[in-house]
Amino acid sequence: MGEWRRFWRDAAADAAAFLLPVDCAGCGAPDTALCERCRAELRPRPVVRALAGGIPVHSALGYDGVVARALRTLKQDGRTALARPLGQALRASAAAAGVGPVLYVPVPTSRPAMRRRGYRVVDLLLKRAGLPASDLLVVVRATGDQRGLRRAERAANVAGSMTARPAAAGRRVVVVDDVVTTGATLAEAIRALRAAGAEPVAAITVAATARRARRS
Ligand SMILES: [Zn+2]
Repeated sequence: MGEWRRFWRDAAADAAAFLLPVDCAGCGAPDTALCERCRAELRPRPVVRALAGGIPVHSALGYDGVVARALRTLKQDGRTALARPLGQALRASAAAAGVGPVLYVPVPTSRPAMRRRGYRVVDLLLKRAGLPASDLLVVVRATGDQRGLRRAERAANVAGSMTARPAAAGRRVVVVDDVVTTGATLAEAIRALRAAGAEPVAAITVAATARRARRS
């Protein structure tokens, strides 16, 4: 049932992409999914930050301009062709983490988001990065929209929202998400994986938001 729906949706999306002209997801230039200039903006420049608790998070791109528009277009408009260059950026984040053999565990998507799109964005990005996704995390509690929340509110919003499958026990894992903002979601994923006996060694994302100046 779900498989069939996905099949027809994918077929319809492919047909639409073939028939309808597309504009560049970065700048709106006509007749290209991503123009040369915007493609250059997606060239990875990995940076690393530490999450609370000291786990490093490696990100290939800054979440603004062309990068933010390309990620939003992939998520909201289902323009899956964009997963290829963004997946390459994610691959660069994984290379920068340099952690050896691990399982790559995507931050789970809520059911409504998954149903709306028919696929998981982070799983698709991992696939395009050539890295196998291990779906070891499950959403156990729906969370409100993180946008517009401050750091402490974000942490409270996601606390206890995930659990890890028993298969996570004893495995070295890297948590994967599309964007890191405050790190609250990644921290919750790491907590859930540790609770199941896994050993999180790093997190990777396609992009990171600029760190805002701390208000006193
Ligand atoms: Zn462009």
